Amino acid sequence: MPTYKAPVKDTEFILNEVLHVSDYEELEGFEEVTPDLISAILGEGAKFVEEVLQPLNQVGDEVGCRRNEDGSVATPPGFKDAYEKFCQAGWLGLSVETEFGGQGLPHVIANAFEEYLISSNMAFAMYPGLTLGAMAAIRIVGTPVQKELYMPKMAEGHWSGTMNLTEPHCGTDLGLLRTRAELRPDGTYGITGTKIFISAGEHDLSENIIHLVLAKMPDSPDTVRGISLFVVPKFLINEGGSLGERNHVSCGALEEKMGIHGNSTCVMNYDDATGYLIGEKDKGMRAMFVMMNAARLGVGLQGLSISEVATQNAAVYARDRIQGRALTGPKNSAERADPIIVHPDVRRMLMTARAFNEGGRALALWGALQVDLAHRSATEESRQKSDDLVGLLTPVIKGYFTDKGFENATNAQQCFGGHGYIREWGMEQFVRDVRIAMIYEGTNGIQALDLVGRKLPRNGGRALNTYTKLVDAFIVAHEVDEILGPLVVALGHALDDLKAATGWLMKNAMTKPDNAGAGSVPYLHLMGLVALGHMWCQIVEAAVTGLSRQGNDASFYENKITTARYFFSHVLPETTVHRKRVEAGADNVMSLVAEAF
Ligand SMILES: Cc1cc2nc3c(=O)[nH]c(=O)nc-3n(C[C@H](O)[C@H](O)[C@H](O)COP(=O)(O)OP(=O)(O)OC[C@H]3O[C@@H](n4cnc5c(N)ncnc54)[C@H](O)[C@@H]3O)c2cc1C
Repeated sequence: MPTYKAPVKDTEFILNEVLHVSDYEELEGFEEVTPDLISAILGEGAKFVEEVLQPLNQVGDEVGCRRNEDGSVATPPGFKDAYEKFCQAGWLGLSVETEFGGQGLPHVIANAFEEYLISSNMAFAMYPGLTLGAMAAIRIVGTPVQKELYMPKMAEGHWSGTMNLTEPHCGTDLGLLRTRAELRPDGTYGITGTKIFISAGEHDLSENIIHLVLAKMPDSPDTVRGISLFVVPKFLINEGGSLGERNHVSCGALEEKMGIHGNSTCVMNYDDATGYLIGEKDKGMRAMFVMMNAARLGVGLQGLSISEVATQNAAVYARDRIQGRALTGPKNSAERADPIIVHPDVRRMLMTARAFNEGGRALALWGALQVDLAHRSATEESRQKSDDLVGLLTPVIKGYFTDKGFENATNAQQCFGGHGYIREWGMEQFVRDVRIAMIYEGTNGIQALDLVGRKLPRNGGRALNTYTKLVDAFIVAHEVDEILGPLVVALGHALDDLKAATGWLMKNAMTKPDNAGAGSVPYLHLMGLVALGHMWCQIVEAAVTGLSRQGNDASFYENKITTARYFFSHVLPETTVHRKRVEAGADNVMSLVAEAF
């Protein structure tokens, strides 16, 4: 049975010594954020997920969700009780505004807890995750009355949320969607259509489910510009807020799927269900993007979280499992073989994952801090800067983290040999669970197109310019440092690859868009590597400072420097291969005729 220990010490190190989040005390929500508060929240959060949620992860996978004859859906044993405890303890509302009953803490703190939540039980974590995503859209485009009606109940977890985009014939290309919204005399809309793959579409955890549904009105363009967003509650809400009649929305079936069995993935039938327009007519995609951007960072975190828990288990196994002798001679002469952790190839898998997990954690938290700064910084200029950085790095965090999350989960499984393929060890569940993160919330191919086609050219390349200047400035400031110097020089080479690939795309993709399409995934990975390299440099800077302090935990900081060196020598050089892939263009990708495949 797999185990999980939340990496509290590492998160505290990043928040306090790398990002210095207590220094933002003058910003709203940060007033009380001290190392003590961080320690208390993370400590309690770790205890909760380790004791309550992680033990339900395997049973959630094995039993899964069940649809009853009447269309109701039962979540796996233990989920309902755990959800009640989760909501009562206030975990759902950590970063929700106090005016809606939340705790008003910065997003960066909630993000730290969210990593633990997902590592312990990804399928469970999706229920509150979707509620927070739906709240993000209501917060931005809802009227004051709509916010007052939905947000407090959702922040408490009494009502949960969903997002309904996908239909049988349309996933990526939402312009094709067919769900209709007919205006009624009373100002509400009759919503009719079928949505598929709807996560948390029906379940027994909350008393009401607030569906956010994309649909087209009859007089709207039959394209992506004619889509509006509607709130469709499972139970209608009476004046005064009590629950009224059952709305005409139901779960037609549960999808049989590869992983995340504890999360209900539903076919949802809307049969003239009562819906309420939220935001402007035909501007539903704008609202949905707000929700999807929040959700994309959350999905990126799924890659990191599963990579972390899978690596933890692989490391325990590798220290314990004895097989073969070290290439340099026996290390464990009392036994007939050495633990497999002596083998460089096993180390390679563990070190690669560790370098990603620790660097990725720092990058995820840095990204979450930018979300806070984009909303709360004092000046328009700094808000815009952070907003540009989040916009640029959101597809990178989603795409790069989930590709690496899957790769690390399979490598962790590989460390178990044949036992990794056997159910009871739990490793194959991690592989199955994390696989979806590369697909939903826009496939990783679509994330890469978003990066190259939208985020790079926007505002004349302002966001990339801001980002490369930031990295350049760090390199210049540390080039002659004793420990950091060689690492920032390597980061400089990687940044050169990024600049060269960007320049090539600017020259060759305008006239020939297939060049952008063919190079977009390698480009996203290139940027992911540079971003991790930048974070690793900041981690090493903090570790060097930590080592110089009295009474430091030397091995913790030294391990950081060692892991950083592994990252810079064994992982970061991939940027050159990615640059070459971008520069190879589309010719050899596109020349075969479709029938040849
Ligand atoms: C378990 C699960 C949970 C989900 N939860 C939700 C949910 O809660 N709400 C919701 O609305 N949806 C949900 N989805 C749907 C999910 O977001 C879609 O499956 C996903 O966006 C891809 O759409 P699709 O399956 O129609 O694939 P398609 O759009 O048919 O894509 C097929 C392939 O073609 C590629 N492709 C398509 N168009 C392009 C293009 N223009 N350029 C380059 N490549 C392209 C894609 O990258 C992909 O590789 C869920 C799906 C699953 C499996």
